[in-house]
Amino acid sequence: MTAFDDYDCQHCGETYRALDGSNAVATGYCSPRCESGGKGL
Ligand SMILES: [Zn+2]
Repeated sequence: MTAFDDYDCQHCGETYRALDGSNAVATGYCSPRCESGGKGL
């Protein structure tokens, strides 16, 4: 059984669906691109 949930990206504010416990959930960004932008890289 998979546990997908909806989260709000910390960078673009878009709602994204991610697997519970996945990296996307841990970081809080919908994509690696937003993760880079959110961290100011
Ligand atoms: Zn995003």
